[in-house]
Order: sequence, then structure tokens, then C-alpha cells
Amino acid sequence: MKRNEFIKSSGLLLLSTMIDLKSFGNVMGENSLTAKMPVLFIGHGNPMNALYDNPFTRSLNKLGKEIPKPKAVLVVSAHWLTHGTFVHSSPAPKTIHDFGGFPKELFAVEYHAPGSPEMAKQTKENIHSTTVQLDTDWGLDHGAWTILKHIYPLADVPVFQLSIDANKPAQYHYDLAKQLATLRNKGVLIIGSGNIVHNLGRVSWEDPNVKFDWSIEFDEKVKSCLSNHRHQELIDYEKMGNAAMLSVPTNDHYLPMIYTIGLQDKNEQIIQTYESIEMGSISMRCFKIG
Ligand code: ZN
Repeated sequence: MKRNEFIKSSGLLLLSTMIDLKSFGNVMGENSLTAKMPVLFIGHGNPMNALYDNPFTRSLNKLGKEIPKPKAVLVVSAHWLTHGTFVHSSPAPKTIHDFGGFPKELFAVEYHAPGSPEMAKQTKENIHSTTVQLDTDWGLDHGAWTILKHIYPLADVPVFQLSIDANKPAQYHYDLAKQLATLRNKGVLIIGSGNIVHNLGRVSWEDPNVKFDWSIEFDEKVKSCLSNHRHQELIDYEKMGNAAMLSVPTNDHYLPMIYTIGLQDKNEQIIQTYESIEMGSISMRCFKIG
């Protein structure tokens, strides 16, 4: 081979290798080798946090910067309770102001992240323990947007929600969550948004810094179970006595936490990212799995 031909064919070889590497890179990025995403539990508390800059909102901001940017976020929120299970599949979910008695500034907040119809469809297909229905009426409730506003302030990550079947016990939700596990390998960040202790009837409006023995006791018990992988005790929380009954008078804000532990692998640790008790009866505990 003449020198010119050699250079020409080497160049072509190099070019074709580069094209191969590029397509290989695409395959790596989009399919099987995507890094496994962590799972978050966020104690969302007061919707006004959407407008605040405080230690809680800064902890959310930090999480958004630490976690590899997801392809989509799936939120299981305490505020979407249904009969049956639904997954929201709109390409542009609306911001739902599902509360009353707050200042107009809060009603003016919009969070216009795109939806993820494709991931919603995959979520429906992954769940076999019940028939999941696609929904286009919901959107993002305040359990989702008040926290996402701090985790992804640019609203540049697609978001979709999965509803909680209010008729089912904790064990059902724990088992259902396990069927979402493969989404973690597809770049989906799954967030449970509720509160481990949530008793609005016992909220201390007069003194927001008051501490109730029962709320501290239950919050600490849950923390201990979380750090020792004692899932069954968390599922059977009603057996934990009076502190549990006062802390979880209704289970809507507790169940999103059950979803997150259902997604914890045996070898994964839980990292506590924020903790405080607000107004006596709301635990703001947040944690990250993986
Ligand atoms: Zn709430």
C-alpha cells in the first residue's frame, strides 16, 4: 500500500471507529447501562415552603445538585388519593393549587415542568398486581410542585405522578412499589412526598417550636427502623402503640414513605438529609436511598 492510500484508509478507519463509539455511547446513555437512580422521601409540610428560603428548602436545593440529572421524576404524593391506581400521562401537567386559606402569592406559583407520557406508560406496564389506568385530568399537586420548585427550580426535568389507592393497606403499597424498581435503571428519580408524623388536629399554632413527646418518639422509632432495614415494623406501624396512633391518625402522608422503602435494595443504605419537628405534630424528616 502506498503511503497516501495508507493515510486515507487509516483516516477512514478512525472515522468509522468514531462513529461506532458515538452510537455505542448513545446505546449506553439511553438503555441498559444508565446509572441506577436514588429514591427520595421528602417531608413536604407547609405549602408555603414553595416560597421560602430556609434550611429545609436549601436541603432540597442541595439534593437537586447532588443527584445525577434524571430523565424523569415520578412523585407519589400524599395529596393524590384515589379508588384504584392511576398514573398521570399528560405531556404538560398543570399546577394544582389544592389547598385553601393561603396568600394569593402561593396561588400564583406555577411549575411548568413537562410530563412524561412514555414513562407513565412504562409505569402502567410494570405494575401487575393491579390494573393501573392512565390519567390526564390530574397534574402536579402541591405535594409535588412545592418541593420540586426547590429540587429542580428550572422545571427542566419531566415529572409525572402515581396515585395512592386509599382503600388499600400499607403492605399493598409496599408490594406495589417493588414493581416500580426497574424505572430506577431507566433514569427515573422516584420521590415519595408526605410526612412521617402528620397530625393537623394537634398542630401548635401558638408555639411552632413546641415539642410533643409522642411525635418525637414516633419519628425516632421510624428513623431507627429505617437505618436497620426493619421494613415490616414500618408496614405494621399500627402495632407501635399510642405514639403511632397520634402521629399517623390517617395514613395518607405516611404511605409515600412506604413506597420509598419498598424500593430499597438489601445492600442500600438510607441517608437522612433533613430532620425537624414543626409546630409539634409535623415531622419534616427527609431521606435518600441509594
Ligand atoms: Zn401534605
